Amino acid sequence: MACPACEVQELNDSFAPADAGIDPQRLREALADADLRVLLMVLHQLTGDRRWISDPLLPRRDVRLIADESAGFDEATQRLIRDAAFELLSRGVPSPAIARPDDAKILEMMSACLGEAVDPAYAPMVREDMGVADGDAHWSAEPDPDLLQQSRVLIIGAGVSGLGLAMQLQRLGIAYQIIERNEDVGGTWLENRYPGAGVDTPNLFYSWSSQRNPHWTRYFSLRDEILGYLQGTATRVGLREHIRFGTEMRRADWDEQRLLWRVQLAPTGAAPDAVCETLEVRYLVSAIGHISEPNQTRIDGMQDFQGPMFHSARWPDRLELAGKRVAILGTGATAMQLAPAIIEQVAQLTIYQRTAQWARPTPELRREVSPAARWLFANVPFYAQWYRFTLFWRYGDGLLRFLRKDSQWPHPERSLNRVNDKHREQMTEHIRTVLASRPDLVDKCVPDYPPYGKRILLDNGWYDMLLRNDVELVTEPVSRFDADGAVTADGQHRAHDVVVLATGFSIAKLSARLDIRGLGGRTLAEAWADDNPRAYLGITVPDFPNLFILYGPNTNLGHGGSAIFHAECQVRYITRSIVQAIEHRVQALDVKRAVHDAWIAKVDEEHAQLIWTHPGMSTWYRNQHGRVVSTSPFRLVDYWRMTHEADLDNYRQLTVQEGADTG
Ligand code: NAP
Repeated sequence: MACPACEVQELNDSFAPADAGIDPQRLREALADADLRVLLMVLHQLTGDRRWISDPLLPRRDVRLIADESAGFDEATQRLIRDAAFELLSRGVPSPAIARPDDAKILEMMSACLGEAVDPAYAPMVREDMGVADGDAHWSAEPDPDLLQQSRVLIIGAGVSGLGLAMQLQRLGIAYQIIERNEDVGGTWLENRYPGAGVDTPNLFYSWSSQRNPHWTRYFSLRDEILGYLQGTATRVGLREHIRFGTEMRRADWDEQRLLWRVQLAPTGAAPDAVCETLEVRYLVSAIGHISEPNQTRIDGMQDFQGPMFHSARWPDRLELAGKRVAILGTGATAMQLAPAIIEQVAQLTIYQRTAQWARPTPELRREVSPAARWLFANVPFYAQWYRFTLFWRYGDGLLRFLRKDSQWPHPERSLNRVNDKHREQMTEHIRTVLASRPDLVDKCVPDYPPYGKRILLDNGWYDMLLRNDVELVTEPVSRFDADGAVTADGQHRAHDVVVLATGFSIAKLSARLDIRGLGGRTLAEAWADDNPRAYLGITVPDFPNLFILYGPNTNLGHGGSAIFHAECQVRYITRSIVQAIEHRVQALDVKRAVHDAWIAKVDEEHAQLIWTHPGMSTWYRNQHGRVVSTSPFRLVDYWRMTHEADLDNYRQLTVQEGADTG
């Protein structure tokens, strides 16, 4: 059985330097690049000396995406902090005076580190994320091996969420299997391989808290490095032998007598009438992702186009772009990464824009993590944890309160409130400055809806690129394609050799894309009226016992944060539920409708106050009836708290022996 304290220690040990001796020369060089607000926390934790978290050594508040490492200190103070760290660490890594800060201590340190008062609600969550406290599911007594075998879990999908759950099931000794339609792990990061694909949450935060990687080469990594991290983790943790690649779920039926799922599997792409293999499992987990099913874009004449035409998530092998006239349909997050990445190769780029997008100026987007900073992450105790925390804070909940509608605000059509209006001004100014020489482009690029209404984008050299002579931004809609190009509504024909459909994904069905049949044979698609997905905590659905959903309805993040953080919250909830069910010898959990409905009401009430119900723009966060089905209205810390404990009283509890409901 796992010992929580030992595991926390192991986690901390994994961040201790490889050997206790530190090369003074390397240390001196690395400290020159250190983030001083982070270094102060390291000094305080190692020495216990309050001086490092007290005036005048308090960093200046900095809300930029990647903060200034000097933390606002003058040269002499910077030298003082670096010298103190050098003195301390060059003698060998001391055993820390504060190895496990409690809630009060971590709160004090967080506030000192950021230069602002932090809500105490964050303290326990941050302690867990740092590995100081253990929030994972654990057995209260040695589990019965037979019960572990009988509690087999089938996970559909080997992306970030599915792998995250697998790691925890493996640690708990619960039997599991993953089926994956592709031939490797990685999910969205495997499928999206268009040039320029990358993350726009810094990786030191967009990574599993239990699988920290001090070696990221960029703050915002590109797809290959992220995929390498996922694939490497799957191998190192030993998940691959539990995965059946090239396999799809055809259908899953809940057996009401035996309280298990009967799941039909077939090779990916097999004919509809292919013979399926049937698996019986106690728990079924949908980990098929949120943004994984390309939109079916239908425009007249598409089939007549002679060149390659494909969705951005289906980038062809060996596609040659050099010297080609390329068209991109769409201006979302994908197009904004793709276009600047290919512009140097192509002869001509035409971008068809339906709606202008808000994008934040982000000079840090291409910044590399210096070797010195990587050395600090790998070698200086607590440095990586505190650095991750500063990113968590800047990418976390800060924005959400500014995405609330102010009923007194006199300009609700253009912004929600005073701060949102300020953001509008700043981003508009950015567009006007970069495009100063082309007022025609300014008119096309400044959106008419409030910033953050659609998913916010990071300017990846997009506006600079629009100024080039070989780029054309077209706002007339495409009315049809023909053999060699596209015709817009004004009748103009443009010739293209390649057309990329960066037209987004079909979101609204989520897990109801799978043929899952719960009580009475009712499908999930029926329960969700096709495009109105609802689940308690985004995870469980009434009448679908023992079905758990990862990255389900209302768990996508619109205001900030990392999807991996949210996945870890869901994984904790699911594993705690399964552990409790096994320990209480309950075979099936079915969320009570009242509990589910109350949670959904809370989600909808919150959203009514938030930007994503603003009528001024379309967004994939909403379904066709205007309900926000994708995005969470809650702070990260609130969702962490809601999912932290699994209260089985919220479930009808069923046992096979009696077939009885004990709930
Ligand atoms: P998206 O944000 O949904 O954008 C699709 C674009 O295609 C929009 O500009 C849309 O216009 C346009 N469009 C759709 N159908 C069209 C049609 N029939 N004719 C003309 N234009 C059409 O899709 P995405 O860019 O692939 O991004 C999807 C999501 O994936 C993102 O929001 C993000 O969550 C994730 N993503 C993340 C990253 C990252 O983190 N780095 C990168 C890529 C994607 P309208 O705006 O008018 O609908």
